[in-house]
Amino acid sequence: MTGPLDPFETDERKALRASARGFAEREIQPDLDAWELDGVIPAELAKKAAGAGLLGVGYPEAVGGEGGSVIDAMVLAEGLMAGGASTGSLAALLTHNVSLPHMVRVGTPDQVARFVKPALAGEKVGSLGVTEADVGSDLAATRTTARRDGDHYVVNGAKMFITSGARADFVTTLVRTGGPGPKGLSILVVESGTPGFSVSRKLNKMGWLCSDTAELAFTDCRVPAANLVGREGDGFGLLMHQLMSERLMLAIQACAIAQRSLDLTVDHVRSRVTFGQPLISRQVVQHKLVEMHQRIDVARTYARAVTARFAGGEQVTAETCLAKIAAADACSFVVDQAAQLHGSMGFMRETEIERHYRDARVFRIGGGASEPLADWAARMLGYHE
Ligand SMILES: Cc1cc2nc3c(=O)[nH]c(=O)nc-3n(C[C@H](O)[C@H](O)[C@H](O)COP(=O)(O)OP(=O)(O)OC[C@H]3O[C@@H](n4cnc5c(N)ncnc54)[C@H](O)[C@@H]3O)c2cc1C
Repeated sequence: MTGPLDPFETDERKALRASARGFAEREIQPDLDAWELDGVIPAELAKKAAGAGLLGVGYPEAVGGEGGSVIDAMVLAEGLMAGGASTGSLAALLTHNVSLPHMVRVGTPDQVARFVKPALAGEKVGSLGVTEADVGSDLAATRTTARRDGDHYVVNGAKMFITSGARADFVTTLVRTGGPGPKGLSILVVESGTPGFSVSRKLNKMGWLCSDTAELAFTDCRVPAANLVGREGDGFGLLMHQLMSERLMLAIQACAIAQRSLDLTVDHVRSRVTFGQPLISRQVVQHKLVEMHQRIDVARTYARAVTARFAGGEQVTAETCLAKIAAADACSFVVDQAAQLHGSMGFMRETEIERHYRDARVFRIGGGASEPLADWAARMLGYHE
């Protein structure tokens, strides 16, 4: 669906997309290669994005945001990608999309003032600490514990693969405050500098190089009880709701990376001459481009439609899983074809396609791998014993 009936294509959202694109062209794309080598984005980038009115897009003004809905947050991501940003830079710049939603929904005024507002102003970085070395897909098995002790919790455990974890000012952390299973889980905000909290190591990755990813440790770490988000036992439900918007965002980003790869490939096959003719003159190349376009359009149309239903308050759990799986698959196919059509240059670090090829791999894993998402969809759709 495109045109005025598509909520992603209203005049206001087209203007937002253009503004985000301009920001990426000016502030991200020129320095991205250097940040990839550094393994981190500069701290000023978030302040610049906040100054441009972009960081708080999709968040209510009452918590320091710019207003708008989850659709606006996704239009922002589409615009940044079209301007030459990478999904790694988005993961690093927009980590608040995974660390704040729980507090925006049920946080105390104090939590909003200490964490949400500074993060949306680009003054603090927040991470989401959920995955553990032994627990990824099956989050109900989370082991990190938080034992109540007076007006504190004492946290023990470790978290793995945490985006922006090495530079985070606070980590929105899934902890076990009760018995086994999902009902024993809560969300607690742990601030860096708290005794007993440490970054064990910064992880080297295949892609998303400018997005720092860390392993975190908690050893008898005393966290004020005032940092509990919602009530004890609310953690799993809060996380599941946030994962819906995260998975839809990943689906939209996967489509955006694929679209950017297709656009770059079209430019390349127009100018690259083999056997006396531009590559685009070959029917086999044209058909490849059409298939890339088709897979992106189908995945994006579905992801946008599910996002619009989610934004309207509909129950779209199964559809969200399917949207992420479809977008990740489309993205994998497109970046592979794009690299192929670039020939050996597609294998070189100096081409943007090479980065997108590596960055795309995480979309079938992060935020819920495709297989457990299909399991979840099967349960929701009644395809089980
Ligand atoms: C770059 C990056 C950034 C990340 N950022 C964060 C972050 O900020 N915060 C955070 O908490 N986590 C983060 N993660 C972690 C990520 O969300 C998890 O790694 C992911 O959910 C998969 O968990 P796992 O690695 O433990 O895989 P596992 O659960 O061990 O699964 C391994 C494989 O087995 C398959 N599998 C698992 N269960 C089943 C089943 N029942 N049936 C069939 N197949 C199955 C999976 O699909 C997968 O292919 C990040 C990961 C990466 C790579």
